[in-house]
Amino acid sequence: MKQIPSVTILDDKVKEECGIFGIYDNDGFDVAHLTYYALYGLQHRGQQSAGIVVNDDGVFHTYKDLGLVPEIFSERILNSLPGTIAVGHVRASAKGGNSRANAQPLSYNYVKGTLALAYNGNVFNAEELREEFMKEGAIFHTQIDGEAIMYRIAKERIKTHSIEKAVLNTMDYTKGGYSLVMMSPRKLLGARDPHGLRPLSIGKIENSYVLSSETCVFDNIGAEFIRDVEPGEVVWIDKDGLHSIRHKDALEKAKICVFEYVYTARPDSVVQGASVYEVRKAMGHELAKEHPVEADLVFGVPDSGLCAAIGYAEESGLPYGKGFIKNKYIGRTFILPTQAQREAAVNIKLNVLKSSVEGKRVVMVDDSIVRGTTCANIIRAMKEAGAKEVHMRISSPPFLWPCYFGTDIPSRDCLMAVQYSVEEIRQKIGADSLGYLSIEGLKNATKALNCDYCQACFNGEYPMDVPPIKE
Ligand code: SF4
Repeated sequence: MKQIPSVTILDDKVKEECGIFGIYDNDGFDVAHLTYYALYGLQHRGQQSAGIVVNDDGVFHTYKDLGLVPEIFSERILNSLPGTIAVGHVRASAKGGNSRANAQPLSYNYVKGTLALAYNGNVFNAEELREEFMKEGAIFHTQIDGEAIMYRIAKERIKTHSIEKAVLNTMDYTKGGYSLVMMSPRKLLGARDPHGLRPLSIGKIENSYVLSSETCVFDNIGAEFIRDVEPGEVVWIDKDGLHSIRHKDALEKAKICVFEYVYTARPDSVVQGASVYEVRKAMGHELAKEHPVEADLVFGVPDSGLCAAIGYAEESGLPYGKGFIKNKYIGRTFILPTQAQREAAVNIKLNVLKSSVEGKRVVMVDDSIVRGTTCANIIRAMKEAGAKEVHMRISSPPFLWPCYFGTDIPSRDCLMAVQYSVEEIRQKIGADSLGYLSIEGLKNATKALNCDYCQACFNGEYPMDVPPIKE
């Protein structure tokens, strides 16, 4: 019997490093369970490990492990985490390797008490910070940036009167793009780097405060959105409510990573005032204006191409449909930590919907092409299923520069668009035509944002001085 064409998804997506969450309870909520639900909602940002630390009147209880949120936390474990403040974390293994030791949140004792930290992003001078501390005799337990940040904060706390001032001062030493949530015995804190590259939002449930990488989890736990943490802002919540201080070098408006809209964030999140779903759809509209084609059907590559495909169909007037059936019970496969695991994951597949595409000229929309591996597989499977023509449309500009702010593109040589022209890429992936969204189209699609955005991976214009670029 002839098999239905299927596609194994390999490592051809940008890796985002983490999702973070924190809660300060004033209402008698079960903070461990609420953090669990929030991490469940942030699972798309990292599937390597997850953890929760709960503060029970100054005593910190930690549980973290490798795996998915529901695999790690049972009812019994959650019930063993009593307390009134909590921080949680989900991680993708972009840096530091896949080990239990690198799971977050980190929780350490120091001279002023206990601190727990959950961190998202990349501090590109973290190695230097780490070496400095090691020369002074510090012992590190992990390979992650967060540990060097934790040391710096602890050191600053000894020199200052408060933990929030220590976090603020630490920004003087850290270069990169990050957001973090922290917990001291009496406070929950949140911060974004002075450029605001990584997202962090504040919400409220009754009288209790929450902090989250994405607003979609507010819906999950019944919280209302209050506002985004500003660039270079440290917010903290204690028994007197919400407070804030701002770093002297903070940008007025955030320069959020535009990849949050292209790929990373969930479509039901609102990032910097703009619905991810609407922005993604607008990218599809722009794409259709820039790269029209005669075709019979438009569909997206699940999941991140779906919203842009809807926009493409709306703008072009072409019928929108399904080109694939995705196994719902797998996550974003790129987050599997090794290439061998990814390739061995036989259940990780998209099945081409043959009855939908057979004999048709199809427009297939995806969010990006990084290394080109998946795209060629998908197009081959489409043609095997009988598609007459496959027109590939990409809802972001060509990826040309590495990222230093938390997305795992370490050098230019792994980027297909650096090595080949658009026409050469079209030939390599086997498409009948190929069109990328332009920088101008991206600008039109992101008008609803209440801030600026970083697009350095498309145009090489980094928002700060970065290390020499590896070719
Ligand atoms: S370089 Fe690209 S991926 Fe990195 S922060 Fe900027 S927009 Fe995001």
